[in-house]
Amino acid sequence: MPSTPLDILNSIFGYTSFRGPQQAIVEHVTEGGDALVLMPTGGGKSLCFQIPALLRQGTGIVVSPLIALMQDQVDALREAGVAAAYLNSSLSAEAQRNVERQLLAGELNMLYVAPERLLTARFLSLLEQTEVALFAIDEAHCVSQWGHDFRPEYRELAVLHQRFSQVPRIALTATADPRTREEIVERLALQDARQFVSSFDRPNIRYRVGLRHNARRQLMDFLEGHRGDAGIVYCLSRKKVDETAAALAEAGMEALPYHAGLDAATRAANQQRFLREDGVVMVATVAFGMGIDKPDVRFVAHLDLPRSMEGYYQETGRGGRDGLPAEAWMIYGLSDVVTMSQMIAQSESADERKRIERQKLELLLAYAEATRCRRELLLAAFGENYHGPCGHCDNCVEPPKTWDATVPAQKALSAVYRSGQRFGSGHVIDILRGIDSERMTQLGHDRLTTFGIGADMDDKQWRSVFRQLLAAGLLEADAEGFGTLRLTKASRDVLVGNQPVRLREDVRPERRSRRRRDSQIVTGSSLGIEAYEQPLWDALRALRSQLAKQHGVPAYVIFHDATLLAMLRALPSNEDELASVSGVGEAKLKRYGRDFLAVINAQE
Ligand code: ADP
Ligand code: ZN
Repeated sequence: MPSTPLDILNSIFGYTSFRGPQQAIVEHVTEGGDALVLMPTGGGKSLCFQIPALLRQGTGIVVSPLIALMQDQVDALREAGVAAAYLNSSLSAEAQRNVERQLLAGELNMLYVAPERLLTARFLSLLEQTEVALFAIDEAHCVSQWGHDFRPEYRELAVLHQRFSQVPRIALTATADPRTREEIVERLALQDARQFVSSFDRPNIRYRVGLRHNARRQLMDFLEGHRGDAGIVYCLSRKKVDETAAALAEAGMEALPYHAGLDAATRAANQQRFLREDGVVMVATVAFGMGIDKPDVRFVAHLDLPRSMEGYYQETGRGGRDGLPAEAWMIYGLSDVVTMSQMIAQSESADERKRIERQKLELLLAYAEATRCRRELLLAAFGENYHGPCGHCDNCVEPPKTWDATVPAQKALSAVYRSGQRFGSGHVIDILRGIDSERMTQLGHDRLTTFGIGADMDDKQWRSVFRQLLAAGLLEADAEGFGTLRLTKASRDVLVGNQPVRLREDVRPERRSRRRRDSQIVTGSSLGIEAYEQPLWDALRALRSQLAKQHGVPAYVIFHDATLLAMLRALPSNEDELASVSGVGEAKLKRYGRDFLAVINAQE
């Protein structure tokens, strides 16, 4: 039966239309062209190779570095009625032989393999005896040493081009920066591939950044708006992960810790629960997240500054892959800058690398302190020219108030200068405020002309000024990581009065009323579920959990939140109506249609 890309999209995946460049990519690869696809997380990369694999003769071979992820993708494909399998070290020898037999018999539409497996002489010769529809190289940035996830095996994948020159190859990544892209092209011999570069904007993510006053309380208040939601809370240290996870669990949330200090079994179990159950909050260090393919992560919270804009983008990008609203929320303080500088200084990297790391941190700091649209700055970091205001970040929704801080900035800079550029912000603030102490006298700093010239402002106000001067590049922390401050080239213009300085007013967030906490648990409020819809929403989710348990797959493999939400709104009363709900393909309709209709029809 001849099919078109659209037929497959409708009948297998249950979607009505392609998104962005998907259709062009699918057509290009189906016709045998090579492609390099750069698309943000959640953009819909998988369909770009899955549909051509179904349309072309033979088996689509998908190279993926992540064993855990393979199984979920294969489960999801099987649920949709596709003959898919995977081959990696987690399978028994017998199961592996069985998959190989299916491959040789031409029974598979798609086969996922780890790169080290693919590259064995044995497997390559198996491939030579079968018809290969295409090679899809997922997470293609793994070939890049510059990128954040280098895997040496990926380099060897150029062999595919040599051994199977007739088979189209499609490489995909969500890593945007141009340098990584160049390296992918070169290393995978994709010079002739067509490049499909999408915007890296994630319009459904709302960005918010605030100052840390009382991290625990601020986090609790934030999570009030995310009851029943799955989310990730990132912390810098293992200790903070453990403490935060314990505090959330104590407050009655399904919160689990994840960091490299936990044993492998605990880590795997926690990750599994996060993936498979609804509404688990993972409290983690950056060790967590690579290859987390969960579509319904509704928030990503940072209790400390990430290392760089790339890191921030990757981490926040794990929210809202399903296109439904998600929140990226971060709080930070002046101490983060000192801690991060120390971490960079004490790392074993070469000096050149440390310099780059410091620059990256400075960019992130400028983002955090920005008064402009956050989306503009975030995308600018990836060379993308986005013109805000986006209307969907804190600065757009509520433009920060600024004040003329020229004189305090001059005082601060000259206090740094006069004390010899050898002290951290704490001591310099004491000089400004005229705080007498033994140390002050010993150092002779009570005799400086700047001693006491800032007594009109309190410690908190001064910290705000120093933090923002650092972020604006008017001060810099020392490279050695002692937290001492120095002037920069830009400081001079401020000191001589050529450059006015405006800073944002630090506002303390209003404490939310505690009343809501005692009220009935409201799930899905972040998706805009109305109170009258709540019973049906909960019933649909309960059915989904139950089916997921029965089938041994994550809940989202049954149906995504987006699909449940579409059911909730469309209220289909028969199979035809259900079939037209986005995300309901033929196989799933047959398998689950009746159960879901029963739940919907039971509610009036
Ligand atoms: P990526 O790999 O780019 O992060 P996925 O391929 O996992 O993204 O797709 C993200 C989500 O978008 C998935 O839930 C997927 O089912 C959904 N999706 C992809 N393409 C479409 C489409 N054309 N219409 C509706 N949903 C889609
Ligand atoms: Zn904005």
